[in-house]
Amino acid sequence: MSAKKVVLLKGDGIGPEIVGAACTALEAVCKKHDIEIELEDALIGGAAVDAAGDPLPQKTVDSCLAADAVLLGAVGGYKWDSLPSHLRPEKGLLGIRKALGLFANLRPAKIFAPLKAASPIKDEIIGDSLDVLIVRELTGGIYFGEKGRKTVNGAEAAFDTECYSVPEIERIARMAFEFAMKRSKRLCSVDKENVLESSKLWRSVVKKVAEEYPQVELTHMYVDNAAMQLVRNPKQFDVIVTSNMFGDILSDEASQIAGSIGMLASASLNGDARGLYEPIHGSAPDIAGKDIANPLATILSVAMMLRFSLDEPAAADDIEAAVAGVLDVARTPDIAADGIKTVGCAEMGRMVAQIISEQ
Ligand code: NAD
Repeated sequence: MSAKKVVLLKGDGIGPEIVGAACTALEAVCKKHDIEIELEDALIGGAAVDAAGDPLPQKTVDSCLAADAVLLGAVGGYKWDSLPSHLRPEKGLLGIRKALGLFANLRPAKIFAPLKAASPIKDEIIGDSLDVLIVRELTGGIYFGEKGRKTVNGAEAAFDTECYSVPEIERIARMAFEFAMKRSKRLCSVDKENVLESSKLWRSVVKKVAEEYPQVELTHMYVDNAAMQLVRNPKQFDVIVTSNMFGDILSDEASQIAGSIGMLASASLNGDARGLYEPIHGSAPDIAGKDIANPLATILSVAMMLRFSLDEPAAADDIEAAVAGVLDVARTPDIAADGIKTVGCAEMGRMVAQIISEQ
């Protein structure tokens, strides 16, 4: 079997540190499971502006298009904040998502039992753990619809347009049903069907796609209620599917329920196996270069990559189990706890690797 190719976009700030630690874990799990993997570095963000005068050089796009998966650290930093918009590091991120056609963003909001105290939600609501998966449409809706300025009754006005086509809704719904099938077979579709025409279409298309998945229990919820229910009773949810803007807001809300920003992974997928995997946090320039960043979100992103792009679910399970295990014996400073050793970013990567090889 030929080696799987993974492109590493380390990016800026803590990016190189967290991707480095994640590679330590990746190499350990590949060794254990006999997975042949070829890692290739490519430039993105501020680092690419400095080296090549472009936040997303064509060479990077070509490498990513030829890869099985892409692992991204983070982009951005003070150094590039005053550059013109076409040279800003985040242009690189938006550009690579577009080039790879990544229409679905997956964010698991997961609480590991040893970190329950980091959640702002009461213990009796969280129980032993929480695991909700939000599937957000990423390339359509109001962020990409027609927008502009006009005059209304003599006053300046502005507008943005929420527009979804049937195929756009079908493909994201189908992906969410597929995830629901692999989990507890419960899917909640979030919309604003009582007010928005686009949501009326959304709901009718989701119902139609549901006919292909009779084993999945489908519910619908208005977005305002979903925002409330996520803090009132998050355990009622397993997989949530929603539009770009609603998903943007709900996934940030859900990440706060999970507590620590250094623990949350994400995947962006395009319906075939290729995907881009990254922690949800940014480049944390305030702690860059100090070897104190938490690499666990990036390591958990590697687990998602093994599961969704590299078809290695057992290796993904091993990584997730190792992360759960390491929290009892070592913590980076952002999640430090009395009586548990505090370690740096690189050491955390080594400890996860060690647990993987001993499992
Ligand atoms: P941030 O997520 O980088 O940092 C917010 C806070 O969380 C900081 O105090 C930081 O030290 C801390 N933090 C973040 N990740 C951590 C980790 N792994 N371990 C320990 N602590 C961690 O958000 P910000 O400060 O708003 O943005 C900083 C830069 O990152 C900006 O240039 C922004 O544009 C960029 N950014 C990039 C992405 C991305 O690449 N996907 C996402 C968000 C922000």
